[in-house]
Amino acid sequence: MIGTDIPEHLAGAVLSIDLDAICANYQILLKTLNGVPSAAVIKADGYGLGAEQVGKALAAAGCTIFFVAHVSEGVRLRAALPNVEIHILNGLAASALDAYKEHRLVPVLGSLGEIATWKYFCADVALPCDIHVDTGMLRLGLPPAELTQIADDPARLQGLDVRFVMSHLASADEAGSPQNGQQLAAFRKARAILPMGIASFANSSGIFLGADYHFDMARPGVALFGVNPTPEKPNPMRDVITLNARIQQLRDAGPGDSVGYGAAYSVEKPSVIATLAVGYADGYLRSLSNAACAIIDGISVPLVGRVSMDLITLDVTNVAEEKRQPGQWAQLIGPGNPVDDIAARAGTMGYEILTNLGRRYHRVYTGAPT
Ligand SMILES: *Cc1c(COP(=O)(O)O)cnc(C)c1O
Repeated sequence: MIGTDIPEHLAGAVLSIDLDAICANYQILLKTLNGVPSAAVIKADGYGLGAEQVGKALAAAGCTIFFVAHVSEGVRLRAALPNVEIHILNGLAASALDAYKEHRLVPVLGSLGEIATWKYFCADVALPCDIHVDTGMLRLGLPPAELTQIADDPARLQGLDVRFVMSHLASADEAGSPQNGQQLAAFRKARAILPMGIASFANSSGIFLGADYHFDMARPGVALFGVNPTPEKPNPMRDVITLNARIQQLRDAGPGDSVGYGAAYSVEKPSVIATLAVGYADGYLRSLSNAACAIIDGISVPLVGRVSMDLITLDVTNVAEEKRQPGQWAQLIGPGNPVDDIAARAGTMGYEILTNLGRRYHRVYTGAPT
């Protein structure tokens, strides 16, 4: 067990990150891929869980290829992982060309302009790059017209060392969406024009769309961290995080009283209200006001009133008196109260809950070597 950042005795809450569960999730994905290998996407600081720690654990579990979004993320990750491939999803940053070279970062090129810039930059020695094709998301990647230009003039790619040809699914978490099949057909067409390198298509949810979507290498992110990649079915992944906070203060309340900012919760019967030192500044979203629950001593207790910047309030009336004293733990996220449930209550998705996890928690990493 290693703790980082804020020491426990100075923190309002403890965030535990189970590296063994992340590695087990990687194995679950590999099993689903049935022989097709998988990279790991650990952008946004490993979906908020710590790119270095997560990256080292996954590397120890056999993952050799990592994707992040920004060059800055790649530079940091390179210091922690000298011997893996690091790819930069967000396209070529023209201001950062030397950084790709110095830190051995592979740019995911997404336009003829970026391809030309990279070719010019590595005119002496070809450095590896990826090509991203837009198959319908209208975000990054070669648009159809530029793909046609390459088909007409393949020499545009001459001198490039293409490692991956990839595209990204827009609706993979909706297994029945017709967009999946449309993008698949578009990617196959693109692959006919760009047959070089390794073909990579599936994100976490895409892995569960079946073997047609697997190609040569998958690129999962969120499922590694316990979020359900098949929202219409039970979660095949293991829970990864637990967030526990101590009760700070208690208040007796009764009819006529109200809790917190805006008096957004009216007390209707004799109640005990507990205050905990977690708030929206910690990524415990304000949209959880009057909507979340926590678990104390195995009992689900409702969050009452608004989430403030640094505090939340729980109605702990139903908890045994000796279990609801200041200093006792409440589980805000964890088994029985998983990230996906919290996300649904906040009107968002697990991605947003994870990537907002605050920096004021005491973080504890369990399992896996580091
Ligand atoms: C974020 C991202 C992924 C990983 O997606 P998940 O849904 O988290 O599995 C894969 N590919 C690209 C291009 C991405 O931006």
